[in-house]
Amino acid sequence: MEVLDAHCHTVELGPLTDERFAAWCTESPWPPAPGTSFPDSRLGLAIRRWCAPALGLSPFAPLAEYAESRRSLPDAGARLLAAAGLSALLVDTGLTGGAALDELAAAAHAPVHSVVRLEQLAVSVAETAGGSGFGRSFSDALAAQLDAGAVAVKSIAAYRHGLDLDPERPGPAEVVRAADAWLRSGERLADPVLLRHLLWTAVDCGRPIQFHTGFGDPDAALLRADPAHLQPFCAATRSARVPIVLLHCYPYHRQAAWLAQLYPHVYADVGLAVTYTGARFDAVLAEFLELAPFGKVLYSSDAYGLPELYLVGAQQFRHSIRHVLADLPPGEAERIAGLVAAGNARRVYALDA
Ligand SMILES: [Zn+2]
Repeated sequence: MEVLDAHCHTVELGPLTDERFAAWCTESPWPPAPGTSFPDSRLGLAIRRWCAPALGLSPFAPLAEYAESRRSLPDAGARLLAAAGLSALLVDTGLTGGAALDELAAAAHAPVHSVVRLEQLAVSVAETAGGSGFGRSFSDALAAQLDAGAVAVKSIAAYRHGLDLDPERPGPAEVVRAADAWLRSGERLADPVLLRHLLWTAVDCGRPIQFHTGFGDPDAALLRADPAHLQPFCAATRSARVPIVLLHCYPYHRQAAWLAQLYPHVYADVGLAVTYTGARFDAVLAEFLELAPFGKVLYSSDAYGLPELYLVGAQQFRHSIRHVLADLPPGEAERIAGLVAAGNARRVYALDA
């Protein structure tokens, strides 16, 4: 089955200490509680199940054995990435460090397309533009990135304000005032007027907009990351027909599926949920597919840091979608799995254009 990873990040292809490995197995920035470990979880089990064979071990090999084998193989990271068998990667370049995009493409044996993180581009523009020139400079910079080959944009408004944003496009004077205040403050970009300006500039550019929704690190207030907060924005942008892709979604994946059913331009993406829930992704995927039409759900891993996350995502997805569709005639199951695995992403992100 062709699997296309429609939202992911760079990873560390070199060797990792046990501590570093464990730190990539959680969204928590803090050390584990005494007597506990982050890989002793659904995610850790999924890593042992799906990744141990790629390093020459039996499925569910103990973690110490897995770590030993990982250390002994200088190309472990590239092996894991290649074993995912992906047809393309859409990489959010907002998280830095780790392998460069060309290294990632070489290790995955697949083409890499970049996705522009709106808030990060805004910061780089603000360094030179100043308050009054910010609006124009941002739209020029975004257009340049999209002309250079980026296939989509991504918003982390959930991390900066919450998704409960006023859905209307802010006026030019409001944007200048907000940009001036932000630049004077020296603080990170969290002003809701500016976040809305970035989003509406993206709408004008016409490319798909990925939104972080649902769980993540403690920088996001979970309740305000419920994608249902985006309903007014979905309504306000419906006639613009720009695809809105709700990423991660968990534990609000049923809300996301509902929005994807209602609004013609809204889609739900299973990334991060697929890796963290491991074997329980059978149930989570079934819930995504309760309300969302089959053309509205997209596969991604949201892999970041650990190459294992690329492989866990792809293998767990292949496994779970087979289970979820098991009661259908084989041709029908294959058709639906093909849409979620790659076909929907090819269409939404215009990858065959
Ligand atoms: Zn991500």
